Amino acid sequence: MATGKSMRWIKAAAASCLSNSLAQRAAFRLHRTKTLFLMYHGIAHDAEEIESSTIVREGAFRRQMEYLKENFDCLSIEEALDRTGHQAKRLGVVVTFDDGYQNNLKIALPILEEGGIPAIIYVTTGNVCERQLFWSDKIWIAARRSALARIDLTGISNGFGEYSFLGTGEQWQDCVKRLTEDIKRTDPSRREEIAEEVLIRFRESPQAKPFDINVEDNVFTPLTADQVSALTAHPLITIGSHSHCHNLLNQIPLRQAEESIRKSKEILEQLTGKRVEHFSYPNGNLTPDIVTLLKDAGFKSAVSIPPGFFKYGDDPYFIKRIMVGPYTTLDMFKARLTGVLELASKLS
Ligand SMILES: [Zn+2]
Repeated sequence: MATGKSMRWIKAAAASCLSNSLAQRAAFRLHRTKTLFLMYHGIAHDAEEIESSTIVREGAFRRQMEYLKENFDCLSIEEALDRTGHQAKRLGVVVTFDDGYQNNLKIALPILEEGGIPAIIYVTTGNVCERQLFWSDKIWIAARRSALARIDLTGISNGFGEYSFLGTGEQWQDCVKRLTEDIKRTDPSRREEIAEEVLIRFRESPQAKPFDINVEDNVFTPLTADQVSALTAHPLITIGSHSHCHNLLNQIPLRQAEESIRKSKEILEQLTGKRVEHFSYPNGNLTPDIVTLLKDAGFKSAVSIPPGFFKYGDDPYFIKRIMVGPYTTLDMFKARLTGVLELASKLS
């Protein structure tokens, strides 16, 4: 069985081969009638100290957008859904952002403007209205700022034990992800509470450096209600919903899921003065019942997480996306867009 390190090497080597122009041209010709949806979350300045598995640096994002502009038809979500691909000479691409971070406006938007690239931002209204950070982002801040090499979380919940935070970069991120994944597996009704208990353990560890978590002026700060309203008027931006509560919708009672979906739509429509018709499932989790809820609420499309292409006639409530993360090199990015690297991601 390949280790994480050797798998990373294999993927990097595969990406290097696939990103060469010949392989790419062939793949792009093959798929030109289709559209790719790219999944981003937050974009941070290159010098930003905080790390997270979902934060892409500004410099990398700019290079990726330049590449899209040169090689793809950059589309709004409406254009993508209506695109038959009949006359298409190039693949379509849609840039999407989940969660609704303020950095989408402050850092990503000026780069999108440079290339005239449309994007959709799926906003979690609970975080916007209640000025809350996501629990997972608070864990990333605590792990980085406390600078702990290990922490004992025994007794927090079933299955929790000791966690080590080793190395740097991707290796360190994998360690933190192990903890956030364990929290994600806990009972949704207690998850926020458990995450707060974990934060207390971080703070109270004798070796921990003291740290604050401020909601505002932070890499993870959510958009304000006024910013959501202002973004609506921007010709490149579409506002979509990412639910109100950001709970994994298949893990909560259906009535709660319905309330979260409808509340988010209602708030966003008040803020934007437009119909909000596109949805992103938190964590990509969905069931047929949740799809029915979306249709009944008036949504026209919904994006998920499995990688793949979208083509006219595909189910618009199960749109696949290619995730772009902090360690997606430009070679890897180019290779992902050929579609062949989906195979490599299945191996990891
Ligand atoms: Zn999310």
